[in-house]
Parts: sequence; structure tokens; C-alpha cells
Amino acid sequence: MLTDIPARLLAEISDALHSIFMMSHSRHFWFYMLCYLLIAFFVYTASAERNKNTSFWRFLFPSNIYTHPSALMDLKIWLVVVIVVYSGVFALMFGLIHSVTVVLNNVLDLFWEPSVSSEAPDFFDRVIYTLVYTCCIDFGFFLMHMCQHKISWLWSFHKVHHSASVLTPFTANRHHPVDYLMHAFCAFFMGALATVLFSRYHGTSVDAVTLFNTSAIHFFYYMTANVRHSHIWLSFGPLNKLFVSPAMHQIHHSIAPEHYDRNFGFVFSIWDGLFRTRYLPVAQESVVVGLNASEKGYSSFLDAMVRPFAECFEQMRSLQSWRRRRPIP
Ligand SMILES: [Zn+2]
Ligand SMILES: [Zn+2]
Repeated sequence: MLTDIPARLLAEISDALHSIFMMSHSRHFWFYMLCYLLIAFFVYTASAERNKNTSFWRFLFPSNIYTHPSALMDLKIWLVVVIVVYSGVFALMFGLIHSVTVVLNNVLDLFWEPSVSSEAPDFFDRVIYTLVYTCCIDFGFFLMHMCQHKISWLWSFHKVHHSASVLTPFTANRHHPVDYLMHAFCAFFMGALATVLFSRYHGTSVDAVTLFNTSAIHFFYYMTANVRHSHIWLSFGPLNKLFVSPAMHQIHHSIAPEHYDRNFGFVFSIWDGLFRTRYLPVAQESVVVGLNASEKGYSSFLDAMVRPFAECFEQMRSLQSWRRRRPIP
């Protein structure tokens, strides 16, 4: 019934907002936003000398960032794309994860007899599984992210994220729907692969160690994740060699030639270390973010949603697009 559409749309939006702010698998879960506030306060007090003429609220919400057209574009994409796509992507993920697990099991049955264990998994098994599961998804994300930068037709879509010329916590959701789908596919495929391999090896299914229904490692990651897209500099010091700090992701958005195509990682920075794409900041750097001068930004929300398809088809007409890199600054 056509008259049901507004009510169904409202219900859909209310479900999406509930998922975004009240569910711990979302980076904007209220607890992670509280962590963002506390980290900002810590950074503000630690650099009291530099901020002595600025109140905490002005430090937290600099007007030149939050009134910038790029911040407004973040919100438009967040409101229109995320609210519409969010529920669809997660429904797709949960719907497909079961079939992927079945297919993977059938393929593995051809050459690998699963071990059978009558023992219930202990806490140590769960810790190992959590680590394997997180590493698989994180490595998948790393490879996918590197491809989005190295293959020009994939860059057409990922460029929407990098077109932000200021960073706010909502820039994290400034992705083209094609980018969202790639993320979702990668997460459920790598997650299913880790689960199937581990349960075959162990002989029984194992649950991850969770905090508020989220894998414990991802829970800790999300506690600082909102700082990644912000003006707040937070480095993990020597731990940058193991984990991607918010400062390292800000470097990823930088247009400086020395930062070009660095720090593709999400949770662990060891993948960047292995592929020699890791950039470790030794001190606070002033980072200018956005697209290189040779690339054109987006004039409107519609432009950001439609132009990537046109650019992608243009690129794919030539087989060279698989080898061509994104423009070097
Ligand atoms: Zn990127
Ligand atoms: Zn980013």
C-alpha cells in the first residue's frame, strides 16, 4: 500500500539510527563517542600552553572545520546514504554469511576431513579464535583498501572518502555505496573463512571473546576510531608499529607527497609494515587533507554519487585501468 510507505520509511530510519548510536558494532555507538570526548579533553589539557586562549568547546568544535562545506557534505552522505544503505548492507551480510559458510564447508569437505572434538572450547581457544578472526578481516580490509588506491576504477569510488577537505567523525561514513558494499562483502567473506577454518581445525565451533556483543579487539579499536577522522592528533608512540593510530590514518588522508599511499591498515599496522607502506610519525605533523590538485572534487551530493560510475566506466573501457595508479601529487 502506498499509504504505508512514509510509516515504513520512518521505521527504517529509526532502526538505522538505533543501530548507529545504540549498537556497539557501530563506530558512533554512544560509548565510543564518549571516549572521543574524553580523548579530546585529555589532548586539550596535555597541550594547555598551546590552547590557553581557546575554550575546550572551541577546541572540540573548531568553526573553520564544522562550518566547512566538506563537513556539510559528510553529513549529507551520512544521512542519506548511511541511513538508507546501513540496514540494507547489514541485512545482506547476515543473509549471505550462512550461505558462504555452507559453500566454504562443502569445498573444504573435498580435501580436508574436519577433526572432531567433544571438548567444549575454553577461554584460551576463544582468545585465539578472536585474534584469528580479527586478523583475517583486518588483512582483507587492508588488501581491499590498497586495491582501492592502486586500481584506478576502484579509486573512482574510494575518492569520495578522500575528497573530504576537513576531517570530522562523520567523515568515516563518507563513502560511496559501492565502497560500503565492498567493505561489507570483505568483512563477511573473511569472517566466514576464519570461522570455518578455525572450527574445522578445532573440531567444534568457537565463540569470539566479546564486549557488549562486539569482538573484544574491535571494541578497543572503536574506542579511539572516531579520532581518526578529526583534527585531534593522537599517536600511539611505539605501539604505532603494531596498531594503526588515529594520527596514522590522518597521514593516510594527507596530500603531502611523502604521505602518498601510506597507512592502508585499519586495526593492525603490521600489514603496512609487511608491504612497506607504513609511515610512522615521529612528532606531530600539520596535515592538509583532500584530493591532489590534479583531481577534481565534487560540486554536490548528487555529483559525488553519480560521477564515480561515469569515471569507472570510462576507466574500464581500457584494460590499462587495472595497472594505472591514482594520480601522484
Ligand atoms: Zn584510502
Ligand atoms: Zn579515512
